[in-house]
Amino acid sequence: MCEEQTVSLVDVVEEDEELEEEASAVLAGSDSDHCSYPQGYVKRQALYACNTCTPKGGEAAGVCLACSYKCHEGHDLFELYTKRNFRCDCGNRKFTELQCKLNPDKDELNSLNKYSHNFFGVYCTCSRPYPDPDDQVEDEMIQCVVCEDWLHGRHLGCVVPDGVELQEMICESCMNKNDFLWTYADHLAVQGAAVQVKEETGESNVDVPDKQQMDDVIEPSSKRSREEAEPSCRLKGLQGSGQNRLRSGAVFWPSAWRSELCSCNTCQERLSEANMSFLLDETDTVLAYEKRGKKNEQKQPGHDPLMLALDNLDRVQQLEIIHGYNDMKTELKDFLQRFAAEGKVVTPDDIRQFFEQQQSRKRRRVDGGPYYCT
Ligand SMILES: [Zn+2]
Ligand SMILES: [Zn+2]
Ligand SMILES: [Zn+2]
Ligand SMILES: [Zn+2]
Ligand SMILES: [Zn+2]
Ligand SMILES: [Zn+2]
Repeated sequence: MCEEQTVSLVDVVEEDEELEEEASAVLAGSDSDHCSYPQGYVKRQALYACNTCTPKGGEAAGVCLACSYKCHEGHDLFELYTKRNFRCDCGNRKFTELQCKLNPDKDELNSLNKYSHNFFGVYCTCSRPYPDPDDQVEDEMIQCVVCEDWLHGRHLGCVVPDGVELQEMICESCMNKNDFLWTYADHLAVQGAAVQVKEETGESNVDVPDKQQMDDVIEPSSKRSREEAEPSCRLKGLQGSGQNRLRSGAVFWPSAWRSELCSCNTCQERLSEANMSFLLDETDTVLAYEKRGKKNEQKQPGHDPLMLALDNLDRVQQLEIIHGYNDMKTELKDFLQRFAAEGKVVTPDDIRQFFEQQQSRKRRRVDGGPYYCT
């Protein structure tokens, strides 16, 4: 047998471990034992909505990771991935029957919580469930960093660029509500996405905007304002200069784009009024949150994060996780059996593709119950 065509079990297991690390990142950033309520409005946490306790037609409510395990076991839960500035609702006035087992002493309501149709299990501008039983089109769901809704790639109104995992997206509706974002988009946004629809160049290269170009634009105004002893505004410097991109469709932003935003007093006020001060905070991103989660795990050397997590769960939860894990293994087996049935040889590329599919499904979204992470 040709060496290139063999895949060792070690390769498979290694891929597998990577997959687990990815998957546990979303959960590791949140506490699975203690209700997050005492922490108040948590900057970012994994959230769930319970279709059993607070179904459509009533008031929307969200519960923390620990409550999803301990108080809503066996319930029909929607995994909402992570959302920012949310305080756990478990057992408060919105729940007629249920008492929170972890933190029963809660205010009636959390008035600063924001809710969306996601809390009733529907997503995107098309308001469909995910997964959608009536939709056979393979598509990725991408979360808007402003409204935090999840949108189908094909409903964004732009071409989804490569490498979206590392980019943040702002949906068209949020762009239009905050006109100044279009000014930033002219200079910072991942190029080609919206324009491509028009020109159809067939190229899909994603240009990260030239920092030098950006500084060139900014420099004159900051020099001038220093002379005038006035604080400079980057945004003002950008207005009226540079190309105008098509002002339609969602916008993808390259990594670290937030650090390019102006933080002068006027801009800070503007962001605060629009409830978007988080854009000036690089630690607000999902990537930063996941990084923190991964770091927390690495603090325990010599322990397998999966095993460690399993240790802290009760038996039912352990079984649920192992069940989810076995599902993935079953899928891999099915995948391999298809090759056997067709008499084809499995190549490393085939295996890689399988895990990439698994991974992108996990990263982009959210399937089934609370134990299936990311
Ligand atoms: Zn809770
Ligand atoms: Zn429930
Ligand atoms: Zn609870
Ligand atoms: Zn949609
Ligand atoms: Zn949005
Ligand atoms: Zn400014």
